[in-house]
Amino acid sequence: MRTPFLAANWKMNKTVGETQAFLHEFIPLVKDVNNAEIVIAPPFTSLFTASSLLKGSNVHLAAQNVFYEEKGAYTGEVAPAMLTDVGCAHVIIGHSERRQYFGETDGILNKKVKAARKQHLKIIFCIGESLDEREAGKTFEVLKREIEEGLKDIPSDNLVVAYEPIWAIGTGKTATTEQAQEAHKYIRERLSSLYGATAQSIRILYGGSVTPDNIDVLMKCEDVDGALVGGAGLKADSFARIVKFTR
Ligand code: PEP
Repeated sequence: MRTPFLAANWKMNKTVGETQAFLHEFIPLVKDVNNAEIVIAPPFTSLFTASSLLKGSNVHLAAQNVFYEEKGAYTGEVAPAMLTDVGCAHVIIGHSERRQYFGETDGILNKKVKAARKQHLKIIFCIGESLDEREAGKTFEVLKREIEEGLKDIPSDNLVVAYEPIWAIGTGKTATTEQAQEAHKYIRERLSSLYGATAQSIRILYGGSVTPDNIDVLMKCEDVDGALVGGAGLKADSFARIVKFTR
């Protein structure tokens, strides 16, 4: 039995004040949810405030990115230990926007995963194909490479994988349940070849225009264990509805 995992990635949105307002509304809305892991990933500038407001709640904190060095002359970067220090339990690594706009390669992401694990951060590792890659029939090839290179020499504990087809992110175009299940099943097969039977316990999230209107049907897919939510995670009521999905 895999505990459902619902995470909101706020990207470059919300000031400290807006973070406070969201959490004052959101925490009470989900306080009785005890059958799912709930995570929010605010921007770095809101982590400290969010961490204090989340104390004693059932909502956990994630960062959206991390650097792989421990400290030093890396202007603008944030180290894994700084994230645990501020109260993060999780970190998102490999989001397609990081790969696409900031040149993060499989090799860089693998170093980030290793560095974050050293600080006992739990990893939300994102993979997914572009529209061109899907149309060229390369979806499985891309997923295989991203898994094998990004997760090279990484143990399976404290690992959540997010399948986010790039063409579905922020576009309002969700993968069909067939497309999602097909990709998730393939990802689990690849994880099985890396990790054996423990792959059955790894949560695989779907991400890409998840909303309160499509979460229930997506969660009915056998290998969809949760969601990584962008736009719909910015409003307390809509993310709360996603967290309270029904199967
Ligand atoms: C994301 O940012 O990971 C994402 C899936 O965004 P959206 O839900 O807005 O498509």
